[in-house]
Amino acid sequence: MNTAVDKLVKFLRLEADRGFDNRSVLGGLDRMLDPWQSEARQTGVPEPVIQVVVSRLRDYPQLTPASRQEALQGVWARLRTEFPDQLPPAVADEAATKVDSPSGLLPETAPPPVHADAPEADKPVPARESNGRPDMEMAPFPGEPDESAPDEEEDADGTAPTLPPSPSPQGPAALDAPLTAISGIGPKSAQTLDKLGLRALGDLLWYLPRRYDDYSQLKTINRLWYGEEVTVIGTVEEIHVRPVRGGSLKLVDAVISDGSGALRVTWFNQPWIAQQLTPGRAVVLSGKVDQYLGRLTMNSPEWEPLERQQLHTNRIVPVYGLTAGVTPKWLRRVINAVVMRYASRVIDPLPESVRTSAGLMPLGAALQQVHFPDSWDALHRAQARLAFQEMFLLQLGVLRQKRDWTSLPSAPIMVEDDWFDGFIRRLPYELTAPQKVAVADARKDLAAPRPMNRLLQGDVGSGKTLVAATAIAIVAHHGEQSALMAPTSLLADQHYQTLRALLLEAAGLAAGTIRLLVGSTPDSEKQEIRGGLADGTIKVVVGTHALLEEPVAFANLELAVIDEQHRFGVDQRAVLRAKGTNPNLLVMTATPIPRSLALTLYGDLDLSILDELPPGRQPIETRVLQPGERARGHRFVQGQLDAGRQAFLIYPLIEESEKIEAKAAVDEYERLRDEVFPGYRLGLLHGRMRPEEKDEAMERFRAGELDLLVSTSVVEVGVDVPNATVMVIEGANRFGLSQLHQFRGRVGRGEHKSYCLLLPDSDEASSNERLKAMEGTNDGFKLAEMDLEQRGPGDFLGTRQSGFVELRMAQLTDVRLIEQARREAARLFETDPDLASADHRVLAAAVDRFWSGGKGEIS
Ligand code: ADP
Ligand code: MG
Repeated sequence: MNTAVDKLVKFLRLEADRGFDNRSVLGGLDRMLDPWQSEARQTGVPEPVIQVVVSRLRDYPQLTPASRQEALQGVWARLRTEFPDQLPPAVADEAATKVDSPSGLLPETAPPPVHADAPEADKPVPARESNGRPDMEMAPFPGEPDESAPDEEEDADGTAPTLPPSPSPQGPAALDAPLTAISGIGPKSAQTLDKLGLRALGDLLWYLPRRYDDYSQLKTINRLWYGEEVTVIGTVEEIHVRPVRGGSLKLVDAVISDGSGALRVTWFNQPWIAQQLTPGRAVVLSGKVDQYLGRLTMNSPEWEPLERQQLHTNRIVPVYGLTAGVTPKWLRRVINAVVMRYASRVIDPLPESVRTSAGLMPLGAALQQVHFPDSWDALHRAQARLAFQEMFLLQLGVLRQKRDWTSLPSAPIMVEDDWFDGFIRRLPYELTAPQKVAVADARKDLAAPRPMNRLLQGDVGSGKTLVAATAIAIVAHHGEQSALMAPTSLLADQHYQTLRALLLEAAGLAAGTIRLLVGSTPDSEKQEIRGGLADGTIKVVVGTHALLEEPVAFANLELAVIDEQHRFGVDQRAVLRAKGTNPNLLVMTATPIPRSLALTLYGDLDLSILDELPPGRQPIETRVLQPGERARGHRFVQGQLDAGRQAFLIYPLIEESEKIEAKAAVDEYERLRDEVFPGYRLGLLHGRMRPEEKDEAMERFRAGELDLLVSTSVVEVGVDVPNATVMVIEGANRFGLSQLHQFRGRVGRGEHKSYCLLLPDSDEASSNERLKAMEGTNDGFKLAEMDLEQRGPGDFLGTRQSGFVELRMAQLTDVRLIEQARREAARLFETDPDLASADHRVLAAAVDRFWSGGKGEIS
């Protein structure tokens, strides 16, 4: 037995036990290197081994805990090949004794469980304190790889100092091990953690902090200021437990000094602290400096004994989401143990080349830093790395989807220039410049031997229908069928009228070849339409969901147009598409999506944007009124009604239940009808009405039989009522800018000047300030951009669409990140689109996994 080796092994173990805090040797591990070298040489340790030890430990103090662990593992591995007897691989046994050994990490006792089903240690750990509480201490987790390996697989090949990378794309199989593999977590704790969605070791690695508290500002007591967040290291001078409030509560009262001064510290109702912090012990306190009777104090600071690796104090402390029965300290400790041990073993899905080119830290280091950052800078770099990864996987999936799309065969649909130019000339108006581009895009797509897959984005009133009509005309002229699907029968009817007007004239289609199919179409007519679609005599069908529900078969469906695409689910779009063989697809949306978001979410679609309104459109004049100016607003509306115009009044939904909402809308409608607008014809539209009722109300309004339509936010997008000139939006502060802009787009569609009145129901200046943007611009894209910044993508997209983007780190507003990830993804995709090379296996699996979480097809 070599004494030098023995000593070193002891230090390595101690250091690992302490979580690599570089305190196992007084003054730092590097301090022992010189004396150790000479002893090693004297006792015959081979020179190469000495060199390995020295070179690997020289910079130890400067390393992050993760790198320290790696360094020690390297040293351990080298020593073991040389001295197998002195560094036995007796893993499991050793781990077991370690858990029970009081000489291991001192168990710190967590506060009592706050809930009956609090986690309890399933294995008894000898408690230093006889307080009789269930001990939630997790067993120490030695960082050196051979000890206390929590999963069978590791034990099986425990001869290797580090775990061999498992072929599993998830990284080492250990990460799939259940949480109970961690000593100190039994079935009960596992059950509690399950509530946080934490089931496997790997889940803990990805359970990212919600926020961080900065306790890294170490200060001496004499330099403390009232109100600051600090960390103080001191010695317990005295500590007492005092009953307060007649004995029902207990106050721990301590005096801590650090040589520069003394600080009074109190904890409320945690009497066990007095048993752990006995006088003379060194303690680290982190928290806010308070004052009491003119003297500085700390109330209920975070604390831990000085000799521990500092997880809870004296650093940037991660704050995790909790559930009943999980205390912050306990969870932090569990996660720390797992992170220290496993983060570096997660296989990085990003190829080295991408990492280098994008300047990113390795995944293992990023996971470590995102949980237990060494500095704010390291944290930010770690976050950037994780965000990049998400965006990169997202983009690769989008590219892959696009490739899948474009590899499908599709019969080219080409029309001669003469016919095409003639068609455009016969349209009732000159196309706007963006319409010309979009129409050319569509024609080119149709002529290509792959299906069109295009998103047509355009602000309300930008003239999307005309672009769709042109595509439909091309397909009809070529002799094939098109279907246009709209979310409501009212909109379907409107499109039907428009298409007839445009196509019968300009494309010379026969009257019977364009048909409308909605739920209320009489059965006999439905049957006739089905026949015409099946034998190909009907060229264009416009409809609602009825198109999907009816057993409609097409002779040769070549183009599916979907209006207001976000109103349809992915499935519905797929059903429509399945009615043809790889039909061309044109989806339209009036929700302008900022470029960064479009690149990300619709990266698999080609994009046409109508960002210019047809000429002669008068901008809608918008005013934000004060809550007290409601009566004035109503008088303005009356003036417009008296002039023969019509108005919408949007009434926000406040209540949770639909039933109550409906009642509130009915009440408000009756109040407005009887008290505010007596003598005018009012109609009501709300979500609880049957579709026929809704259609009827809309129809009467459109026909001019109603002066004012009171509606909840269900008022249909895309409805064209040229005589409507006022849009009043109650509770405007409750809506996003994009949605307000959509509402506003219901007016201003005719020859008369139109107005939009926003009536906030709060006088909170900041939320109403936001609304001012509506006065300043009529540009839906600009507003969408602001909306996205203010509310984030979830709100912005609404529930239906936000579902498929669950990004943990990446911000969809971070254009720079998106573009960087996109660039890197495109570059990689160019060389290896199938991610088939050996270097990209892990990446391919990561892309699959990322996209299997409901982030699938979007068109
Ligand atoms: P949206 O993009 O909101 O669906 P529509 O297609 O309904 O817009 O068009 C809005 C209105 O503008 C319609 O009344 C339409 O006839 C008219 N329009 C469309 N294109 C032009 C154009 N190039 N010149 C003049 N009016 C147009
Ligand atoms: Mg439209």
